[in-house]
Amino acid sequence: MNYISTRGAGIGERHTFSDILLGGLAKDGGLYLPNEYPKVSADELARWRALPYADLAFEILRKFSDDIPDEDLRELTRRTYTAQVYCNVRDEENAAQITPLKTLGVEGGTPLSLLELSNGPTLAFKDMAMQLLGNLFEYTLAKHGQTLNILGATSGDTGSAAEYAMRGKKGIRVFMLSPHKKMSAFQTAQMYSLQDPNIFNIAIEGVFDDCQDIVKAVSNDHAFKAQQKIGTVNSINWARVVAQVVYYFKGYFAATKSNDERVSFTVPSGNFGNVCAGHIARMMGLPVEKLVVATNENDVLDEFFRTGIYRVRKSSETYHTSSPSMDISKASNFERFVFDLLGRDPKRVLQLFRDVEEKGGFDLQASGDFARVQEFGFVSGRSSHDDRVDTIRDVFEQYDTMIDTHTADGVKVAREHLQAGIPMIVLETAQPIKFGETIREALEREPERPAAFSGIEDLPQRFEVLGNDAERVKAFVAERTR
Ligand SMILES: *Cc1c(COP(=O)(O)O)cnc(C)c1O
Repeated sequence: MNYISTRGAGIGERHTFSDILLGGLAKDGGLYLPNEYPKVSADELARWRALPYADLAFEILRKFSDDIPDEDLRELTRRTYTAQVYCNVRDEENAAQITPLKTLGVEGGTPLSLLELSNGPTLAFKDMAMQLLGNLFEYTLAKHGQTLNILGATSGDTGSAAEYAMRGKKGIRVFMLSPHKKMSAFQTAQMYSLQDPNIFNIAIEGVFDDCQDIVKAVSNDHAFKAQQKIGTVNSINWARVVAQVVYYFKGYFAATKSNDERVSFTVPSGNFGNVCAGHIARMMGLPVEKLVVATNENDVLDEFFRTGIYRVRKSSETYHTSSPSMDISKASNFERFVFDLLGRDPKRVLQLFRDVEEKGGFDLQASGDFARVQEFGFVSGRSSHDDRVDTIRDVFEQYDTMIDTHTADGVKVAREHLQAGIPMIVLETAQPIKFGETIREALEREPERPAAFSGIEDLPQRFEVLGNDAERVKAFVAERTR
């Protein structure tokens, strides 16, 4: 399999899965995609139905990573997707399924279910891909005798998923910036209680945007970046996207009895990484009827799928909401879908994303391209804080099930797109404990806390406070990589 950039660089060159694993953007600023999507045959789909999660992951990933020997990949997936790692389940007996399907009830003539993706170590779906990435990175670095220093900024979710995936991994250090005293006690404890010597929590005296600016400043110092072997694990990483394809298959098998049936998925979305994986599963041949994109008040994506207009927001127009992991101003993986929508024409993608940089967006309504969105199964909707609170309360009262704010955005929008006879699967992207404030507002009770997390706020914490200064961060990194 060869990988190409959505903007056309490297056509005629060879990029394998391992080549692009540790990198970010392609050199022309585009995103990597396979030169064509592998197709799943009816025989394969029939055989895969019975596979445990780790082996299903192996079958799917091997279609995208033919430069990793099968026996190595099988070992990596079996080590990653274990009941021990994904142990924070609602029902103990479901742990072996890794992503259990929880049916809420029948609505609009069809079952409405949650696909539990947040049973991993940080209680959010990012663990599904990040845990694999940790093992893939360690494997690939060892093979080439290399090391990597991951630098990132986080306001909570992504940073902790990265730390829990990379802790104790050989050849890898993580330097994670977070805003000092700005995260919830639970999130702070989750990250800062890690004692692994290869994990460095840096609390910056500033806000999240300051942390992000420091990461940008350090990354723009190309000499420093090369010398210190600095890398990132952001949501455009191809391996993260492809690892997420697996649970669409798993969810499909759990919700259906035969491969003649179709299902729809609703995906609480921010950077379009999760639902992009659903799009890829569908392109591979999974019988998916609709891919429902759910946003919060930051509705860049909902606006596009309703109107054909993609208009990125300024930071002053980006709201801080009670589903904060979906608070985005632009959707960094969206370009991958646009590439497919435009019939894989890199020249037009380049032009459109130049327009994004120069004019703040583009309009596909006039050109007629937008009409094709339907062929790809996409529809959308948005939700507000009041919708989240109502939905959390309603799902708790009707189905005795506590859901988090992001999943609530999903359920709210899913209910607007139910079709009789087509099971609707909402991806559950986090557990309620991570967003306790809104749970208390909706239910006037404390969120459920998985046993492994009792008292984590009292554990000793390991972190370093630094001023809001990129040079200080560089010096900190340099001292620890000598
Ligand atoms: C990251 C995240 C999302 C958004 O996922 P994207 O892949 O960025 O669209 C939704 N919910 C939760 C809880 C998240 O952490």
